[in-house]
Amino acid sequence: MRFQDKVVLVTGGAQGIGKEIALDFARGGAKLVLFDVNEQALSDTAKEIGDSLRVMNLKVDVTNLSDVEKNVNKVIDNWGRVDILINNAGITRDNLILRLSENDWDSVLNVNLKGSFNCAKTLARVMVKQRAGKIVNISSVIGIMGNPGQVNYGASKAGLIGITKSLARELGGRNITVNAVAPGYIRTAMTDKISDKVKEEMFKRIPLSRFGEPLDVAKAVTFLASEDADYITGQVLVVDGGLV
Ligand code: NDP
Repeated sequence: MRFQDKVVLVTGGAQGIGKEIALDFARGGAKLVLFDVNEQALSDTAKEIGDSLRVMNLKVDVTNLSDVEKNVNKVIDNWGRVDILINNAGITRDNLILRLSENDWDSVLNVNLKGSFNCAKTLARVMVKQRAGKIVNISSVIGIMGNPGQVNYGASKAGLIGITKSLARELGGRNITVNAVAPGYIRTAMTDKISDKVKEEMFKRIPLSRFGEPLDVAKAVTFLASEDADYITGQVLVVDGGLV
């Protein structure tokens, strides 16, 4: 029970990687706050976590700063603190640059980058007062190695590494660590959309010869958010079966 009574906020926590992260924290005794736009998945995941006294499932669009602030205030009113923030909400809108619309650029940057900024900014205030906190940003190997058709996504995920490193320097003196996890190819709704041809190509490049599962990522995240990682900050932990 290494997270006994810690309050953990997971964005995009209703499904996929975020859901598995939430379940892993719940197994460790944490109280969960899930921010997501998918109401059906939110209530299904809250039920799966179980005890309604230990989970707040809130419909929040992370791109909207006042929505984030309003709902963080609800959490503070209810539980008085937030110990851990996992910036996981993310989307893809893939296209080669000649066909990539301004709208697809803006939506991906808005959710993946600005959404993480909105949550980090709001929770930094809470954590600075507590003089303790842990933030883990979910980046991607695409932010490190690039990928054709993902200029918007790659920029957002590289940007998240930039946020991680600057924020680690800014908040270190207040006993707050900030790290990133960069997953490779993980089997979720997001990667279901990829064509079989691209999947096959990707598979050949993975030394461990399997695609990742959400739990592979969750284990890295809960490590970085645990006391075992108290002296680790500003780092990017790649969870990709050796792909990069
Ligand atoms: P999923 O699409 O399965 O889950 C993401 C969740 O975030 C969904 O419930 C989605 O709702 C929600 N969401 C989307 N936009 C917002 C928003 N504005 N505010 C709040 N919630 C939102 O994605 P994954 O689990 O695959 O990915 C999770 C994270 O991991 C993302 O940041 C992704 O970029 C990253 N990642 C994933 C990899 C993979 O291989 N799957 C690899 C590397 C990184 P809705 O369904 O309604 O859109």
